[in-house]
Amino acid sequence: MTEPTRAERRQHSGGQWSIGRVEVARVEENIVPLATKVLVPDITADHIEANRSWVRPYFDEPQAGNPMLRLSLHSFVVLSGDTVIVVDTCVGPDPDRDLPGDPAFAERLERAIDGGLDAVDVVVCTHLHFDHVGWNTTWVEGRLVPTFPNARYLVTRAEMDELARNDHMAVGEPSIRPLAEAGVLDVIDLDGNGGHRITDEVGLIATPGHTPGHVSVAISSDGRSALITGDAFHTPLQFAHPELAAWRFDSDSQQSTATRKDLIERYAGTDALVLGTHFAPPSGGRLRRGETGVWFDAS
Ligand SMILES: [Zn+2]
Repeated sequence: MTEPTRAERRQHSGGQWSIGRVEVARVEENIVPLATKVLVPDITADHIEANRSWVRPYFDEPQAGNPMLRLSLHSFVVLSGDTVIVVDTCVGPDPDRDLPGDPAFAERLERAIDGGLDAVDVVVCTHLHFDHVGWNTTWVEGRLVPTFPNARYLVTRAEMDELARNDHMAVGEPSIRPLAEAGVLDVIDLDGNGGHRITDEVGLIATPGHTPGHVSVAISSDGRSALITGDAFHTPLQFAHPELAAWRFDSDSQQSTATRKDLIERYAGTDALVLGTHFAPPSGGRLRRGETGVWFDAS
């Protein structure tokens, strides 16, 4: 059997983008229909109807009158020079999680990355919720070990502090402790501007509210820029309505709303690509300012 070409790998991944010299690929674990009332409870059918022309890919037909999100679970693989970065690791192999993962996801990642899982240098955990850290580790001979054996795993100190206070999603034991034991966990303090640099082209920016130490990924290369949202946004509808918060899960919904407004202010009307961590395909687009407000242009 011949090795898949790079183009075939990308096709398999369900989305790829170039930002200057940086390449980003989306690798999907799953897409889950989820009632909006579970995740972003204040979304109404009217919100969706009023923005129908551009939000349709992100919602299913309502069930029993309830609007339904198409919630995507995927990693972004970022190539910056020689550095291979995986942003968030989805739900993982544990079948008892509240969202369905996919046991085959690690193999899919292996195929999608030149050099496979061994080639990954950095894993970014935007925050420590179960659907972002599940594949940090994998079972080998009855023991959880790092899935990416040569990677440093980045977690902000504020996230670690929050985990120590309240591990309400039970991620510490399966998804963080094995990293610390293997010596591959880097607890990072953000700099004075609330940032952290990974390469010349890729860095983290503080986007608190969903969790206290939440970060998004900012990319800048050859005059182009992009943002990987993490859970600052759960659906593109929040670009039009940043006040719609995931308040059942946010540590501070006022803060998450302020963060969304800041990001919209910064990116709307610019050429920057915005890549949504939970957006079903098309998962990337630009924030346009239209007559009725901001909208997500994924064309
Ligand atoms: Zn999430």
